[in-house]
Amino acid sequence: MFVAGGGASGMMAAVAAAGRGLSVTVLEPNGRVGKKLRITGKGRCNVTSDCEPQEFLKSICSNARFLKSSLYAFPPSAVKDFFSEAGVPLKTERGERVFPVSDNANDIADALEKAAKSAGTVIRKERLLSIETVDGAVTGVKTDRGSFPCRAVIVCTGGRSYPGTGSTGDGYAIAESMGHTVTPIMPSLVPLEAEPMCAQLQGLSLRNVALSLYRGDKLIYREQGEMLFTHFGVSGPLVLTASTFIRQGSVRDYRLTLDLKPALTPEKLDERLLRDFSENKNRDFVNSLDALLPKKLIPVMVERSGIPPRTKVNTVSREQRLRLRDLIKCFPIRLVDFRPLSEAIVTAGGVDVSQIDPRTMESKLVRGLYFAGEVLDVDGRTGGFNLQIAWSTGFAAGRSVLKKE
Ligand SMILES: Cc1cc2nc3c(=O)[nH]c(=O)nc-3n(C[C@H](O)[C@H](O)[C@H](O)COP(=O)(O)OP(=O)(O)OC[C@H]3O[C@@H](n4cnc5c(N)ncnc54)[C@H](O)[C@@H]3O)c2cc1C
Repeated sequence: MFVAGGGASGMMAAVAAAGRGLSVTVLEPNGRVGKKLRITGKGRCNVTSDCEPQEFLKSICSNARFLKSSLYAFPPSAVKDFFSEAGVPLKTERGERVFPVSDNANDIADALEKAAKSAGTVIRKERLLSIETVDGAVTGVKTDRGSFPCRAVIVCTGGRSYPGTGSTGDGYAIAESMGHTVTPIMPSLVPLEAEPMCAQLQGLSLRNVALSLYRGDKLIYREQGEMLFTHFGVSGPLVLTASTFIRQGSVRDYRLTLDLKPALTPEKLDERLLRDFSENKNRDFVNSLDALLPKKLIPVMVERSGIPPRTKVNTVSREQRLRLRDLIKCFPIRLVDFRPLSEAIVTAGGVDVSQIDPRTMESKLVRGLYFAGEVLDVDGRTGGFNLQIAWSTGFAAGRSVLKKE
C-alpha cells in the first residue's frame, strides 16, 4: 500500500500501518520527510496540547464531531507516550503546549522517520499524480515515475499553506477526481491586512492587551495577550487566533477593537488620565501621554482623539478626555483581507468529512482510499491542535487500512 505525503499525518499513518506488518511505501516529492514539521512551533514543534479529548475538541474550528472518534483512539496522552518511547522526551509549557525537551522540531521528524523505517517502510522521492480504481476500489497509483498496482492509498498531502514545504494542495484535485467534494479552502491562523494606519505603527508589539473581533455588532472573540502591527496590518498570537473565527462572508464584514488597558475599568482609566494630566498640566497634550502609551502609538492616538496636539493639558475638556479614554479602551482597526493562503499556518476547508468514515478515515465512495491530516476539512487553533489532528487521523488510517482483507 502507498501513503502519499511524508508529513506529520503521512508518517504517523506509515508507522501505524507498517507496525501491523503491512508493506508500506511513502511517496514524498521532497525526498526528505517532514519539511513542514521541521519548521513548526518556530523550529521547536508544538507537538500537541496536553489536555483531555473533550477539552481538546473545544479548540477545533471545524468538524470537531468528525474528529472525536480518532482523537479518543489516539489522544494527546498517546502521542506523548509515542514520542517518549521513540526517544524524544517531551515537556509541557504554559497553555498546555507540549514541546520536545530539546526544543528541536527535527527530533520529532527524525523519530517518525526512524520508527517508520525500522517497521519496514520504504520512502521514495516521488509525487502521487492520480489513483486508479476498478469497480469502486483502488487498484493502483500513478506517480511521476510510473504506475504501480496497490489495494490501498492514504492521501496525506496536507493543505495549501507554506507551499515551499511541499504542501501545494495536490490532494484536493486527487480527491475531486475520485468523486469527493472539497469544501472551499481558505487561510486560517493567518495575519490580517488592515487599514493604512497600521503601517504607521509597523513594528509595534503589544503585550497584555485585549483584542475583540466583531461581525457587525456581534462580539465573536475576545482574548487577552500579544499582538503586533506590521506594514500590511496586524499579526501576532491574538490576531492569528482571531482569524480562525472569520469563516463567513468577507473579512471586511469583521472589525477589531483593541483594549490597551484591559486591567483598568473605564472609571479607573479616567482617574489615571486625570492624575497624568494634573502632573502635566502646563505641557502640550501630545507630550502628556508618555507614561500611559507606547511612544509609537501616541501620534495615532492624538490624531484619532481629535484633540489638537498643541492643546495645553489644563484646557482639555472633560468631553475630550472621556473620548480619549474610550479610544484607549476601544481602539478600532478596520480589516481589509486575509494575508494570502501561502502565509497561513493552516488551510481551512478541504475534503468533505461527510464522505469519510470517522473511525477509519476510509472514503465512503472508493474502497481502499483513505485521507488524513490537513487535506481533510478539519482544523484547529494554535497550541498543538493541528498536529494532533494529523497524528490522530493518520494513526486511524494506518491502523485501519486493509484491515478486512
Ligand atoms: C510555520 C508553521 C508552523 C506551524 N507550527 C505548528 C505547531 O507548532 N503545532 C501545530 O500543531 N501545528 C503547527 N502547524 C500546522 C501543522 O504543521 C500542519 O497542520 C501539519 O503539518 C499538517 O500535517 P499533514 O501531514 O496533513 O501535512 P504536511 O505536514 O503539510 O505534509 C504534507 C506532505 O505531503 C507532500 N505532498 C504534497 N503533494 C504530494 C503528492 N502529490 N504526492 C506525494 N506527496 C505530496 C508534501 O511534500 C508534504 O511533505 C504549523 C504550520 C506552519 C506552516
